[in-house]
Amino acid sequence: MPGGHGPGGPFGRAYMTEEEKANQPKVTPELIGRVLSYLKPYILQLLLVLLCILISSILKLLPSILTGKIVDEGLIGRSVNALLTYIVLSLAATFAGNLIGVAESYLNNWIAQHITFDMRNQMFKHLQSMSQRFFTNNNQGDIITRMTSDIDGVERVIGNTFTSIISNIMTLLVALIAMFRKNWLMAIIGIIIVPLFTIPTRKAGKTRWSLTRESQACNDEINGILNETMSVSGQLLVKLFGKEKYEYDRYAAANRKMVALNVKEKLAGRWFFVVLSTFASIGPMLIYLVGGILMINYGADMTVGDITVMVALLGQMYMPVNSLLNIQVDWMRSMALFSRIFEYFDMPVEIRNSENPVKPDLKGGDVVFEDVCFSYEASKPILKNVSFTLKCGDCVAIVGPSGSGKSTIINLIPRLYDVGTGSISWNGTDIRKIELEYLRSGIGVVSQENYLFNGTIRENLLYAKENATEAEMIDALKKANIYEFVEKQAEGLDTMVGNRGLKLSGGEKQRIAIARVLLKNPALFIFDEATSALDSISESKIQEAIEPIIETRTSILIAHRLSTILSADEILVVDDGRIVERGQHSDLVKAGGVYQKLYETQFSKVTENQ
Ligand code: ADP
Repeated sequence: MPGGHGPGGPFGRAYMTEEEKANQPKVTPELIGRVLSYLKPYILQLLLVLLCILISSILKLLPSILTGKIVDEGLIGRSVNALLTYIVLSLAATFAGNLIGVAESYLNNWIAQHITFDMRNQMFKHLQSMSQRFFTNNNQGDIITRMTSDIDGVERVIGNTFTSIISNIMTLLVALIAMFRKNWLMAIIGIIIVPLFTIPTRKAGKTRWSLTRESQACNDEINGILNETMSVSGQLLVKLFGKEKYEYDRYAAANRKMVALNVKEKLAGRWFFVVLSTFASIGPMLIYLVGGILMINYGADMTVGDITVMVALLGQMYMPVNSLLNIQVDWMRSMALFSRIFEYFDMPVEIRNSENPVKPDLKGGDVVFEDVCFSYEASKPILKNVSFTLKCGDCVAIVGPSGSGKSTIINLIPRLYDVGTGSISWNGTDIRKIELEYLRSGIGVVSQENYLFNGTIRENLLYAKENATEAEMIDALKKANIYEFVEKQAEGLDTMVGNRGLKLSGGEKQRIAIARVLLKNPALFIFDEATSALDSISESKIQEAIEPIIETRTSILIAHRLSTILSADEILVVDDGRIVERGQHSDLVKAGGVYQKLYETQFSKVTENQ
């Protein structure tokens, strides 16, 4: 029976935590309407489920009602025929009830799965349209929790809570009607004592819940240790500091605590069962007592069978009453789940296509920054009136101290963020009017932190161009100065790059990333030059790969090395979000400003390394 979720309902506990109480959602008609809107496409199936529930509630109570006939007509009436008939009927009803139960549960799960399928896809799409700001500000773990646990929760709610509520109400109603039809006085006794049954359930629920919380905390601790020690970098730290024993002891201690808690929790369940069964046996005894006295002393119009039916019906009422008393908690928890999910759905899409997006020729136009101001957080301006023109085919180098806003300038071009005021245009069109996917397809970025997927080199390259031929890939790898390396690997292009490309050195990763961008063949190349992570051999290999690109293609780069800076057509010097100087190397050195200082402190050192 769907109502049989035990003391805690489908969520496994009957009590709200303090935190849950504090975060109770406002259950507004809009919220309910919105939840129902997800059910709407499956209305037919839902109606069918309701019908199944109704029929199976009746069928499942039938054997209890038939016990009266078995006792009165079969046993007391001494009729084997009647006995057999009612027993067969009773068994048939149970069997049919269970069969319908199967159908109900199939339909139910089908609906729940389809709704969560819709929701998951909708959420994935929505999250993908979120801006970089969203992913920077939100914890990755939180985002994944919404996608997984929260939506799993919805599946449970729809698969269990909703139908369990309906099914419990129906079972209860059918049982009550049957009881009142038999004897109103005993029905009233039944109604009074059934809620009493739930006292031990609630008490035991509380104890178990607090134990569960303790073991959850312990579990978190264990997971924390595992996360720290079983990651690549964590394990490296453990090994290099010889902390294996320390970590083992820490793990073993937490593990031991968990054992004790689990034993306690299981035992609490057992005690609970003892108390519960004692309480549950009081109800039938009371019915026997009252029914017996009424029948024996007062000659009430009742048979032994009637009393037996009452007892059997009472037994059937326990679970539904118990579940219904916990409904409020389940309901609140379900609503909290939905509102958490809706909260994500309601987050506005920051970066979106304009009404009538256009697709200007990107390969043939200049990129123009005009008076661009930008801030990540309202109170803290980052870019201040940045203006410059990147002529088609030219290369602009951006230099400046760390934190001056170089990466920010670059991030604005593929619209990872939108400008605050001012504008960026490409071939005369404001980039906010250009179709977003088209704009991004025109830009190739090689950043310091290049993300390689855990797959083969080939797969990583194909991400840039799905239908690239082997020859094209090899050509790109050669241009990126990495083909020699790939060729040397036993698996060649099919070499696995490891988690986030960790099996490759920084320089190799960087050159694969350059090959990937070359395959994409964008109108504009953006390079965020690595600063210190690379050795000079890797650096010069990268340099060799980048140089021909910046000489022939439109490109913009954040440069730290003098040789790169020298190959640029114009140098922009950024300081505290402003372009403070611009021009050619020799002029800027002569000017004796920020550039000259950078030249003396940073650039020259790098050139010495070469
Ligand atoms: P650079 O590339 O010159 O080192 P950035 O453009 O990365 O500088 O950063 C410029 C400023 O913006 C810094 O003060 C940095 O703290 C801030 N900043 C960068 N990214 C974010 C972000 N996602 N949210 C808030 N502030 C940021």
